[in-house]
Amino acid sequence: MKSMFGQPLVDTVYFNEKLQKEAELRSYVLEHIDEAVEKGWIQTYYQPCIDIHTGKLYQYEALARWIDPVHGYLRPDQFIPVLENNYLVYKVDFKVLENACRTMQETGHPFPISFNLSRTDFESADVLKNIVDISDHYGISRSFLHAEITESAMNNDNNVIRKAIDDLHGIGCEVWMDDFGSGFSSLNVLKDYPFDVIKIDMVFMRNFNKRSEDVVKAVTGMNKELGLRTLCEGVETKEQMDFLHSIGCDIAQGYLFSKPLPYEEVSQLEFGMKS
Ligand code: C2E
Ligand code: MG
Ligand code: MG
Repeated sequence: MKSMFGQPLVDTVYFNEKLQKEAELRSYVLEHIDEAVEKGWIQTYYQPCIDIHTGKLYQYEALARWIDPVHGYLRPDQFIPVLENNYLVYKVDFKVLENACRTMQETGHPFPISFNLSRTDFESADVLKNIVDISDHYGISRSFLHAEITESAMNNDNNVIRKAIDDLHGIGCEVWMDDFGSGFSSLNVLKDYPFDVIKIDMVFMRNFNKRSEDVVKAVTGMNKELGLRTLCEGVETKEQMDFLHSIGCDIAQGYLFSKPLPYEEVSQLEFGMKS
């Protein structure tokens, strides 16, 4: 029955082996999350975000991967939702951040990253203390750390997120809004929440037509008026990049540049592209 949630046009499903496997994997994830954190199965992959004005690297988004000894490579959608539902995703989020800070220290070259926080992190963990402890331990300036919070996190008790943004700014982190336009976007979000960067959801690039272009252009213009930077997610073609350049969008992220990769691979990439 639960597998039907979120599919309004589906009124019947048949239990099959796929559902059984997914249920087993969810149990496995819940039973092994602590072991995964301790034994280094939770790894950090990096996806470049490009400064559209200069064509240079702006930062990386740090994304979680679970490399499991039994199940192999697990994508975030195989373990993030089940951990969120059980208020355990903070374990992944701070591991991803810690991995990144350790890598920065080891290489001796700190680099700016954004990392994802789930709404439940603010209910189940001391987010500020974790960020301060990790960054201090590895000697990384928090100006390199940009916390991404999804628009959907803003749904009910907005005071929690409002305070979280102020607190994150207070310790020196930027706060970026993830997946803008994917849910019930409200202009209040732009008005009332002091985000530094708005990440426009990749649905606009996926259905890249005149109407999407107009929306992306309008949102970018509005952000500029408000003094916010705009990042566009899911950029896959040169045509999309040219469009974003023409409307003054600030940052681009997508397969056109690279998919998320381990640090050893992403750090080999060149971004000498002409803008
Ligand atoms: P997100 O934060 O919006 O991350 C962007 C996702 O879009 C990534 O998927 C990335 O691989 C994918 N992507 C990037 N460029 C393109 C493109 O050009 N085309 C297409 N089709 N896709 C692109 P990924 O890594 O599978 O992550 C999926 C989601 O899982 C993330 O969406 C985020 O919501 C969540 N997630 C990932 N890592 C973490 C984490 O450490 N903590 C938390 N709380 N959530 C995470
Ligand atoms: Mg994100
Ligand atoms: Mg996103």
